[in-house]
Amino acid sequence: SLRQLMVRATPQGESGGAVLVMHDVTEIRRLETVRRDFVANVSHELRTPVSIIQANAETLLLGAIDEPAAARRFLDAVSRNAERLGQLISDLLDISRIEAGKYKMELDALSLTAVARSVSRSVSESCRRREVVFGVDIAPELQVHGDARALEQVLVNLVENAVKYGPEGGVVDLVAVEQDTAVRIEVRDEGPGIGPDHRSRVFERFYRVDPGRSRHMGGTGLGLAIVKNLTEAMGGDVGVDPREPRGSCFWVRLRKVSPKAPEADAP
Ligand code: ADP
Repeated sequence: SLRQLMVRATPQGESGGAVLVMHDVTEIRRLETVRRDFVANVSHELRTPVSIIQANAETLLLGAIDEPAAARRFLDAVSRNAERLGQLISDLLDISRIEAGKYKMELDALSLTAVARSVSRSVSESCRRREVVFGVDIAPELQVHGDARALEQVLVNLVENAVKYGPEGGVVDLVAVEQDTAVRIEVRDEGPGIGPDHRSRVFERFYRVDPGRSRHMGGTGLGLAIVKNLTEAMGGDVGVDPREPRGSCFWVRLRKVSPKAPEADAP
């Protein structure tokens, strides 16, 4: 491929020698575009709920407040959009913290069953609301290399999506599959699945397979970007596979921590 290289000569040191600094301009331009798109997306995403809140508040002030049934509807819209705005801001702060290296990680050996227990607690209310059965299948002694809070957030995001996009009354499973030197933690659902054209893109910020549907469900479009950022910060990777006959299997893979060999008996 054609790569443009910008070469700059910088005077260096007392000897007056020069050092060549080469920047890959193509990459710099690409990152610049990504940044600009992100700022444009953020502005758009923030403006939408603000406009809705404003319009509904104005309607109330113009007289709707005197009709209780109508007032309730307008206030409901105000409340839902304020909540959405709050979630958006909190997700954006998470992303910028992670990207600035300010999300303090303590990488350690984590018991997956312990992490799964906190995840179960965090998602129990969403599961109950959609009558979803949440199953966990993890070998009790399994340990991975990661940060407890980050891994919990990753798995909660994936399970919340599985519950949200999967059918009401469906089943969502959290399963750990041991590999050679890694553990693949899978979140399996029975939802519509992710088409092959979207699979490589769903982890991008603000990428949505079905924008209307996702916004309607209160999604910010940032959940999977957070999943990817946090997992990579723990040295792992993420992906999504289709399931038969339907559904998706979102997975994160982290380094396996082998249990310490028992101390050899003293002779
Ligand atoms: P959102 O807040 O919109 O859910 P995410 O970053 O969590 O944003 O997900 C990005 C998009 O990927 C969603 O808008 C949705 O279209 C799709 N998606 C995520 N998880 C699932 C799933 N389990 N099943 C089907 N589609 C999903």
